[in-house]
Amino acid sequence: MTPAANDIVGRLAHSPTGAQHVGNARTYLIAWLSARSQGGRLIFRMEDIDSPRVKPWAAQQALDDLRWLGLDWDEGPDCGGPYAPYIQTERLPRYSALLEELRRANAIYPCTCTRSDIESAASAPHAGHEGPIYPGTCAGRSAAEADELSGRPFCWRFRMSFGISEADSAVTFDDLLRGRETCRPAADLGDFVIAKGNGTPAYQLAVVADDHAMGVTEVVRGDDLIPSTFRQLALLRFFGWTAPRYVHLPLVVGPDGRRLAKRHGDTRIALLRERGIPPERLIGRLAHSCGLTDSPAPIAARDLMAEFDVARLNREPWVFTARDWESLAAR
Ligand code: GLU
Ligand code: ZN
Repeated sequence: MTPAANDIVGRLAHSPTGAQHVGNARTYLIAWLSARSQGGRLIFRMEDIDSPRVKPWAAQQALDDLRWLGLDWDEGPDCGGPYAPYIQTERLPRYSALLEELRRANAIYPCTCTRSDIESAASAPHAGHEGPIYPGTCAGRSAAEADELSGRPFCWRFRMSFGISEADSAVTFDDLLRGRETCRPAADLGDFVIAKGNGTPAYQLAVVADDHAMGVTEVVRGDDLIPSTFRQLALLRFFGWTAPRYVHLPLVVGPDGRRLAKRHGDTRIALLRERGIPPERLIGRLAHSCGLTDSPAPIAARDLMAEFDVARLNREPWVFTARDWESLAAR
């Protein structure tokens, strides 16, 4: 383990639900650079609670992709560490204990409305997956009423207004890149799914529990997760935990302006790796797209460390085209 010069702890929070593409690589690079350039530690965490979507090969592939990119970490499923396990499915009892606290405080209630909300809650709601605001249909129920549902399927929802005097109260946080972000969580986001009826946690609960337990001090992720940050701030407030610092990065998008995904073609990191493309080529493009370098010339991740500064990062999405991919993938 690298001796840490301070208490800065970043994380690479990987969901093994598919192959990693250029957009994921960019987020991991910035998360890594941010922690390392400050002399901080890094945690690799496997976020594998979305069982129907988890692919058995994806976890190993992601570890290989990140190593190939020249990124490293001090704690993780492969190397252990003081806050093990680093695999969410091995941390379920911890989440249950927190859910129990929420239940006793009546901060959550059983909702019998929607199947799709429950099914999608185990994954982070990335661009296009926010869904409609829950209208509060079941909010009149107390947590204790879950016992009276006599086998009806339900999920647990967190009361966004819990502990807030006015339902339209605004909450803010200061993003290190974007500046002040404001939201009225109860009105703008509504009550969100925090676990299945059987106690299986949703992304929001698992991620807050782990970031806290593992001492994470900075969270670097795509700006499509800003609504989730407000949900997570509500949970942090409930548990009385300190919020990490946040950097929300502009997304990598396709020519259609939508978050880079399969529909834009095959931009898997593994493909570059298998083709024998030097990783410095991808890092060079990513660094340039972020505004960290003047040209897209190949460069190693570690050579970006000295000059790295969050304030220099681009605030615009990076439009990634087929031509960009061709120049990356050409042998
Ligand atoms: N595992 C989540 C994802 O890949 C990470 C979200 C986060 O950084 O909190 O979507
Ligand atoms: Zn409901």
